[in-house]
Amino acid sequence: MKTVHNFNAGPCILPQPAVEAGVKALTNFKDSGLSVIEISHRSKDWEAVMAECEAQWRELLHIPDNYKVLFLTGGASTQFMMVPFNLFHTKAAYLETGVWAKKAYAEAKGLHGDAAVKVASSADRNYNYIPKGYDVPKDADYFHITTNNTIYGTEIHTDYDSPVPLVADMSSDIMSRPLDVAKYGLIYGGAQKNVGTAGVTFVIVREDVLGKTGRYIPTILDYTSHIKNGSMYNTPPVFPIFIMNETLKWVKSQGGVAGMYKQNVEKAALLYNEIDRNKLFVGTAEKEDRSLMNVCFVMNKGFENKEEAFLNFAKEKGMVGIKGHRSVGGFRASIYNACPKESVQALIDCMREFERSEA
Ligand SMILES: *Cc1c(COP(=O)(O)O)cnc(C)c1O
Repeated sequence: MKTVHNFNAGPCILPQPAVEAGVKALTNFKDSGLSVIEISHRSKDWEAVMAECEAQWRELLHIPDNYKVLFLTGGASTQFMMVPFNLFHTKAAYLETGVWAKKAYAEAKGLHGDAAVKVASSADRNYNYIPKGYDVPKDADYFHITTNNTIYGTEIHTDYDSPVPLVADMSSDIMSRPLDVAKYGLIYGGAQKNVGTAGVTFVIVREDVLGKTGRYIPTILDYTSHIKNGSMYNTPPVFPIFIMNETLKWVKSQGGVAGMYKQNVEKAALLYNEIDRNKLFVGTAEKEDRSLMNVCFVMNKGFENKEEAFLNFAKEKGMVGIKGHRSVGGFRASIYNACPKESVQALIDCMREFERSEA
């Protein structure tokens, strides 16, 4: 097989052991002679996977006891709507840092009009930075942020102190660094970047933020339905949860989130240093807000006409998925948890070689 280096933005590279465990479980789950997708989700063997998966979440992120961990469906995009359904009473605040943040805000606005407030936006510079120095209204029911902006390559690197419950879309940086969960009211995300395959959505919610809207919440959209039923109000996405559980085992084997963070800092530094050194390329995000997960860059001034040539050159060398999102252009290397340092080094070698060939 050809050596490939997978920089896809999502779905994206997964730990090999998790993929291999998935392949095995598809034919012979726990030596039952049955596939994991052929058995009842009420069976003991399956319930053990659910329990282990939740225990791993709690252990890896030190999730306090007054938080529930849920495995739902519908992706992060469904959470854009479930959050206001469950948490909005009179007012909500949103930080607009990219396309996903904008979509989350649009759902709150669609449901509650101008009572959904945008506190700041970085749209003025095509979302290449994280706004700072704004006020969060103290009478808001929650403040929504997107911790990593997958498309624009910016990231919030700290756990904010918020005067109201902090709600965070962590789809693309969950498990990439240690987290102070106690600073958040609710954390959610689609699994398909750092914790598995598409089909399962994680939600970590502090119980006291729920039950305050005074409105009917459709049962399937009500977090309390899922809490009461241990994420099995309806049939859970068994295979994606299986892969998530295996992915978390791998994270644990890497030294947990602290170990992941160390590797992520190292990988990102290598790549950003090359972007800053190489005369052909320039990074698009403000340095202090640069994402550890999605590294966005474009051709430097004077070399704009080389974009296609570099894409082809990189493709020849086995680089996969480095074309930038259409709203930024250029290139994006997604270097999630499972992306090995060797792949980052291969991309750097490729950039150097291209620079020499163009000199
Ligand atoms: C990928 C992504 C989403 C979309 O997730 P879905 O599970 O496809 O709905 C939302 N937010 C962020 C930050 C993402 O990276």
